[in-house]
Amino acid sequence: MPFALPEIGDEEIAEVVSALKSGWVTTGPKTAQFERDFGAFLGADEGLHCIAVNSATAGLHLALEAVGIGPGDEVITTTHTFTATAEVVRYLGADVRLVDIDPATLNIDPAAIEAAITPRTKALLPVHYAGLAADMPAILAIAQRHGLKVIEDAAHALPTTSGGRLVGTLGSDATVFSFYANKTITTGEGGMLVTRDAALAKRAKVMRLHGMSRDAFDRFTATVPSWTYEIVAPGFKYNLTDIAAALGIHQLRRLPGFQQQRERLAAAYDAALAGLPLRLPPRALSGDTHAWHLYVVRLADDAGVPRDRFIERLYAAGIGCSVHYIPLHLHPYWRDRYALEPSMFPHSQHAYERMVSLPLYTRMTEADVARVADAVRAALR
Ligand SMILES: *Cc1c(COP(=O)(O)O)cnc(C)c1O
Repeated sequence: MPFALPEIGDEEIAEVVSALKSGWVTTGPKTAQFERDFGAFLGADEGLHCIAVNSATAGLHLALEAVGIGPGDEVITTTHTFTATAEVVRYLGADVRLVDIDPATLNIDPAAIEAAITPRTKALLPVHYAGLAADMPAILAIAQRHGLKVIEDAAHALPTTSGGRLVGTLGSDATVFSFYANKTITTGEGGMLVTRDAALAKRAKVMRLHGMSRDAFDRFTATVPSWTYEIVAPGFKYNLTDIAAALGIHQLRRLPGFQQQRERLAAAYDAALAGLPLRLPPRALSGDTHAWHLYVVRLADDAGVPRDRFIERLYAAGIGCSVHYIPLHLHPYWRDRYALEPSMFPHSQHAYERMVSLPLYTRMTEADVARVADAVRAALR
């Protein structure tokens, strides 16, 4: 059983074929439609800008660039994330301040953020770990008090809610979703930058495509077609192709069904694993939605088996699993650049040493969950 598997249907395939046959394969009408549909999914009004990009990494880079992050600045994020969250800060020559998590939620700890703020701090970069919303009311309040930007890494958070509102509409400066192969919807590779800030949106759109004042599709479809454009900055090549957007249009339509299935599977895991020496994943607050990108358990201290041995046993039983994440403070680049030690991140370190992500994807059945649970029970013996 694999750890993750995308669910691509006939509608997606037909839409990709239609893009291929249309003669327009790069950024064009299907990307524009995907952006509009994404805004509609978020319940958008005119003021919400959705900007399709070829990865969440690209979207995070564009958002930080557009809010003016640069050399001398510091951006605070969680150590318990994928390196993409933090590397984009380094692309811009700014520094990363990694902080610890709240062990209850595995999300960035607002108190740790507050303690890490210096006069150089310019932005906060929370991650909605596993699909559970970070404490956005607290994070936005800290940002307001200190005059900081907030960019949300929402790679796991489609569809996640906080206080009943969807991530993407919570009032931060920008939110970035991922459509990587194992995320809750996929375009193979892709992402979406969402913002209410018109200036940020304008800058990100220009920087998405070489710093060009008008993109190829605008020029091609203008009432008076035009070959002219201006380069206003040394931009990037971060646009999403129509081939990828064709997948996204239908993945998005299926998202409510995908979400129900993920909820069902997570509940089946909770029931099947109850009573074992495991700490089960934290739940969303009452009335809120957990996107269930990941189902992460932590071995109890009396589990009787070290985590690495536990994973070997699951592998031997044919069960794919993973660890999210090897915290950034343990990776040579981050450790050495900032002289980091595990003792600076006790909660992340403690969780990392005990955690395992079990398979969770929409094509799984409840019988698959039972099979994983049997293998977990056997591995704990
Ligand atoms: C997947 C992921 C990313 C990067 O997404 P891409 O679309 O692959 O660039 C960033 N942050 C987190 C937390 C992720 O899980």
